[in-house]
Amino acid sequence: MDAAVSGPRPPVRSSKDQFRPESSGLRASPAIGAAVGVPWMAGACGRCAWCRAGMETICPEGGATGFSCDGGYAEYMVARADFVGLIPDGVDLVRIAPILCAGVTTHRGLRRSEARAGEFVAIIGAGGLGHVAVQYARVLGFRPIVLDVDPAKLDLARRLGAEAVVEAGPDATGIVTALTGGGAAAAIVTAPAPAAFEQSLALIRPGGTAVFIGLPGGGRDAIRLSIAAISNWEKSIRGSNVGTRQDLQEAVDFAARGLVAATVETVPFDQVNEALARLRRGEVLGRLVLDSAGRPSLQAFCPDLQHAVHKAAQGLQADQPGHGHGIAPCRIGRRASASSPAGGAGAIGAGRRRVRSRS
Ligand SMILES: [Zn+2]
Repeated sequence: MDAAVSGPRPPVRSSKDQFRPESSGLRASPAIGAAVGVPWMAGACGRCAWCRAGMETICPEGGATGFSCDGGYAEYMVARADFVGLIPDGVDLVRIAPILCAGVTTHRGLRRSEARAGEFVAIIGAGGLGHVAVQYARVLGFRPIVLDVDPAKLDLARRLGAEAVVEAGPDATGIVTALTGGGAAAAIVTAPAPAAFEQSLALIRPGGTAVFIGLPGGGRDAIRLSIAAISNWEKSIRGSNVGTRQDLQEAVDFAARGLVAATVETVPFDQVNEALARLRRGEVLGRLVLDSAGRPSLQAFCPDLQHAVHKAAQGLQADQPGHGHGIAPCRIGRRASASSPAGGAGAIGAGRRRVRSRS
C-alpha cells in the first residue's frame, strides 16, 4: 500500500485543518461545567428517513423529557449530550428556561409557516407560547397580529412587539382580514382551544398556511373545517412539534442576544400545586419557572403541551392531572461512560436518574 496513504500524515496545514468548530461557534458538544438546557425532545435515532432529512422531531424512536423519559422534574437527571441546548455563559437560567420549550416551539412553528419577512402572521393565543411567538415573529421580520380573549395578555403582546392585537372571537376574522388587506400569510395557533384552530383557516389569505402548535388534548382534540375553503383557496395546514436541535439552538441564541425574552415569574418548587391551579385558571402572564430551592436545576412549565401532562402529574399530584412537563437548564456534571445505553450520552448533574428513550 502506498505509504503516503497508510502512513503518518505529513504536517501540511490543509483548509480542513483550519476549520475548527470548537472555535467558530458551531461546536455542538457541551463542556464539563457548561450550562445546558434539557428540552422536550430527549433524543432521536439519527438513522431514520426523517432524521436524515432534518425532521428529527418526528423520529419514531425519539423520546420526550418528562413524558417517555424521566427526569423532567428531577433534581438530577441524565440527558443525551447531543440533544441539550447549549446556554452561553452569563445567561440567566430562570429567564432562559421557557425558551427551551415555548421558545423553540414557536420559533420552529414560525419557520414552518414559510411566511416571508414583511408579511403578516396571526398569532392566536398570547400565553406562554404566544408571548414569545410575537417576539420571534419580530426578529424574523414578520408583522405579528396577536389574538387572545384576555386583555392583560393582549397588552403584554403589544408591549412585546405585536403590530396589532385583536380580541379573540367571531368578529376577529373580519378585523384581521381588514388589517392585513385580505388575510395573514400565516397563522400560528398556540391557544389550546378547538375554536382557535378552526378560525385560523379563516384568518389566512388564499395560499396561506396555518401552523398547529397548541394541543387541546382529550375530548377537545377534534375540529371541523370547510374542505372547500381549504381546497378552493389552496390553503395549507401544517403541524409543528417542538423543534430540532438546530431550532433549539437558534431559539436560545436569539434569547441570549437579548432579542427575545420570556416574561417569567419564579415559584418555589413546594408551591407547585398552586402554580398548576393558577395555570388552569389562566391567571399567569408569560411563564412560571419552578425554582428548586437552591438546587442546581430549574423547571419551567409548558402548559400548552398537554401530551406531557399525565406523566408529569404522576410525580406531582396524584389526585388531578397536571399541566406541564419540566424543562431544565442545569450544569453538566460529568460524562457518561462510552457504554451508556443512550450511546454517546452525557450526564447532567449527578446522574441520579437515567434517561432512556421510549423505555
Ligand atoms: Zn430517527
